[in-house]
Order: sequence, then C-alpha cells, then structure tokens
Amino acid sequence: MAVKNKKIGSAGRFGAGYGKIKQKLVAVERKQRIKQECPFCEGRAKRKIKSIWECEKCGKEFASGAYHLKNQKTKK
Ligand SMILES: [Zn+2]
Repeated sequence: MAVKNKKIGSAGRFGAGYGKIKQKLVAVERKQRIKQECPFCEGRAKRKIKSIWECEKCGKEFASGAYHLKNQKTKK
C-alpha cells in the first residue's frame, strides 16, 4: 500500500497535501546533501545555526545561506 513517490523524495514524510511546497523543499534538501565547502580552505563547513557556518578544518565561522552555502566554488 505504501507507494513511495519518486518526485517528492524526502518530502514524502509529510504525507498528502502541501504539493508545491514539498517540491520546493526537495530542491532545498538536495542542496543540503551536497558537501558544503569552506570558502577559506578546502575543509567541510558545518552549519552551526541558521546562516552561521563553521569550518571543521580551519575553525572559521562565517555567514552564508541559511540552509546551504552560497557561492560554492564550481569545479570545472
Ligand atoms: Zn576552512
């Protein structure tokens, strides 16, 4: 009976309803799963609180996007 909807992915936990919002949420959560890279070094940044990030490697704190880092270095 429990059919998983591939389109809404991780937002499936909210059950029926909230269609459009769930799709937006999925887009955000996909970005969250990508490695968040420190802009000062190559370390991994951890979100401390909303918009405040701390690098695990160099320990620097910086403000960026609330749920994922802005201006990620694009690797060519
Ligand atoms: Zn760093």
